[in-house]
Amino acid sequence: MKYDVIIGLEVHVQLKTRSKMFCSCSAGFWNEPPNTHVCPVCLGLPGALPVANQEAVKSALKVGFALNGQTLRQSKFDRKHYFYPDLPKGYQISQYDLPFSVGGWVEVDGARIGITRAHLEEDTGKLIHVNGQSLIDFNRGGIPLMEIVSQPDIRSPEESRLYGQKIQQIVRYLGVSDADMEKGSLRIDANISLQPQGKWKVKKDRVVALKGYTLNPKVEVKNMNSFRSVERALTYEVERQLQTLSAGGKIDQETRGWLENKGVTVKQRTKELAPDYRYFPEPDLPPFVFDPKDLKKIREEIPELPDEKINRFVREYALEAKKAQIITSSKELADWYEEAVVAYAQTEKPGADYEHIDSKKAEIVYNWVSGELLRRLNENQTSFSASLITPAQLAQLLYLIDKNEVSSSTAKEVFAEMFRTGQDPQKIVSEKGLKQVSDVERLRETVREVINLNPKPVADVASGKAEAKGFLIGQVMKLTQGRANPGLVSKILDEELK
Ligand SMILES: [Zn+2]
Repeated sequence: MKYDVIIGLEVHVQLKTRSKMFCSCSAGFWNEPPNTHVCPVCLGLPGALPVANQEAVKSALKVGFALNGQTLRQSKFDRKHYFYPDLPKGYQISQYDLPFSVGGWVEVDGARIGITRAHLEEDTGKLIHVNGQSLIDFNRGGIPLMEIVSQPDIRSPEESRLYGQKIQQIVRYLGVSDADMEKGSLRIDANISLQPQGKWKVKKDRVVALKGYTLNPKVEVKNMNSFRSVERALTYEVERQLQTLSAGGKIDQETRGWLENKGVTVKQRTKELAPDYRYFPEPDLPPFVFDPKDLKKIREEIPELPDEKINRFVREYALEAKKAQIITSSKELADWYEEAVVAYAQTEKPGADYEHIDSKKAEIVYNWVSGELLRRLNENQTSFSASLITPAQLAQLLYLIDKNEVSSSTAKEVFAEMFRTGQDPQKIVSEKGLKQVSDVERLRETVREVINLNPKPVADVASGKAEAKGFLIGQVMKLTQGRANPGLVSKILDEELK
């Protein structure tokens, strides 16, 4: 029997605000001593009253817009009850039937993945288990947390990873979250099932069976701490379910945890019934009624998002889509690239209109940024913000190549020095004596020397072997330490060989 893989993801994103969701405790708790960012509100002490963080609400609305969702005119917070040691109140303030955003979609590698809803809630504390003891840190408790629920539209483990990365990219572009899986500011839970082809469909956000058929239960997978483990865990789960079903076995409806070092999922608990959370409207927080004018203002604050940027780079700079995708992978990278393209265009025509950039120049900048710059940033594990070289300096270097003042091989050497010191290329070139040799008479002497030293290749050139000329040019470049202008060398060589 052939099966379809059906995956829906719940992505939790911590919002980057100064204070927590419902109190004034500082939200910057990373690496802080445990239980130092707490107060009666986030500890759930009797009588403490929550106040909604306006910035978090704004950020949540932006995420909803960016996911193409619909903002409801009215919204509210609800209490979701369950008992767990990381939840001091015995309930979590979340959103039930009126989330900030409903519907929407994101595009992932050409496929459209539907979004069911995006709501705002508070994060829980963190349990730490050491030497048979369980400890709890409430610093994380009450951090604003968004939950973005996808439709069961994802069809493979790889698509799950790409979807997660797309959500990460969008919230980072919005500047509302660090969305760092290693630090837990982005967390992913997956629901996965295998259903026989042609026996199911999606109806109102749910997978339903066609007549005369019973669905295989879905399994929830947790504890995936990187995008790589999302893909690995789901690949494992597809295989496990496929083998069970093929052997005539039954899938249990359960929650399974991913064990990174063993590369397997293991049963954590059986999920027979949907738990009864006894949701009811949070009585201590007034409901929201949004003014369309305010919503419009918030929408206008949304920057150009990755998909729009890719389209614009393809349109304005004639970049290939694949390249535009790479250069827009982060907003910092895209901004840096664009600034360099504009600065480069202006080296020739000061004040050049950046909307009419020579596509050849845009391509050259792309090659340098995606090649030399990204490689060196990765090698040195440097972030963009800590990089010493500026877009304007790269533009100056490219201009020196255009003016034949440095050869392209020397330019790489200059770039390395710029990257290390942040100095201007002109300064490095003159201090290190790297200026390209374009002095015809000096080059002619070197060319003659090479001709005298290499009678065999010279004879080969005479008998029509083109590659022998390349060898002779290479020898001249070697003698000039790569500083000769190769075009000029070729021309002089032709003259001298006649
Ligand atoms: Zn607090």
